Amino acid sequence: RAKKNGRNGYCFFTAEMQARTARHMRIVGALRQALRLAQLAVHYQPQFAARDGRIVGAEALLRWQHPELGTVSPAEFIPAAEESGLILELGEWVLRTAVRQAKDWMDAGMAPLVMAVNLSAVQFRHPNLPDLVRAILREVGLAPEYLELELTESGAMQDPPSAIAVMNKLREQGVRMSIDDFGTGYSSLSYLKKFKVYKLKIDQSFVRDISTDPEDKAIVVAIINMAKGLGLQTIAEGVETPAQLEFLRQQGCDEMQGYHYSRPLPAAQFEAFARARCGKIFSLA
Ligand code: C2E
Ligand code: MG
Ligand code: MG
Ligand code: MG
Repeated sequence: RAKKNGRNGYCFFTAEMQARTARHMRIVGALRQALRLAQLAVHYQPQFAARDGRIVGAEALLRWQHPELGTVSPAEFIPAAEESGLILELGEWVLRTAVRQAKDWMDAGMAPLVMAVNLSAVQFRHPNLPDLVRAILREVGLAPEYLELELTESGAMQDPPSAIAVMNKLREQGVRMSIDDFGTGYSSLSYLKKFKVYKLKIDQSFVRDISTDPEDKAIVVAIINMAKGLGLQTIAEGVETPAQLEFLRQQGCDEMQGYHYSRPLPAAQFEAFARARCGKIFSLA
């Protein structure tokens, strides 16, 4: 990205960039240690059916609290982990943790839900991914239809032919694929047809002002209708208000996720939340 800023492909290495690189390196070192010391946690944000408000899924989101750096946002440490290659180890850990959690919840009698896990484009490019996913599902004993893998639209567009090949392999295994942050990644519509994903996640930047901004409204309506035409499910991210929810529901968006319902929660709190919302569905816990 830096390259594009300079004329003729040149750019200056500014003090600001130098500071950013130093922080990146510090983060990567600390992250490597956090992985070893089990200082990372996965939180789970519930996803809801628009039709009846039932919890139908959970998105696994990585959390990191460092003793000195404090809470580091994944928006900062994921890119650092990607650049350093540490994302492969980190991503495998998140995948295994989330799949185990889904299995534990089901064994405890929670109504079945689909566990959605974010994949970095770096993980997605790795030729071993389909085998790794299969091995983890088998090791844990979770049926593949309870796992959904999220890839951002920009991640999918880095190398569309190879993304199509990997998505097909995962789909053949019975795992669902969704496109995250949809609408922000410049995918051509012809690729969208070839990706054959299960679900589009409408980016929260379009949802934010949906009640007031006619252009965001138009974009969201277009995404939902296109998805319907292509036989894809839709979920809206970042739903914070009843007005947003009502609009999305009226337009036929299938699922909702956002602070209006719940923030991402530690596993124990997710359980309590699910139990309070649909106690009767919990048979054992
Ligand atoms: P994402 O996958 O698009 O996740 C949605 C982000 O929106 C999460 O931020 C979530 O906490 C936040 N969010 C949810 N509901 C609302 C809402 O109503 N309002 C607002 N303003 N925000 C909401 P988070 O957890 O900070 O994660 C940021 C990004 O970091 C994620 O975006 C994802 O791209 C990445 N990420 C997080 N965990 C992982 C991971 O395990 N692996 C990979 N590769 N990426 C991850
Ligand atoms: Mg996501
Ligand atoms: Mg997103
Ligand atoms: Mg995002």
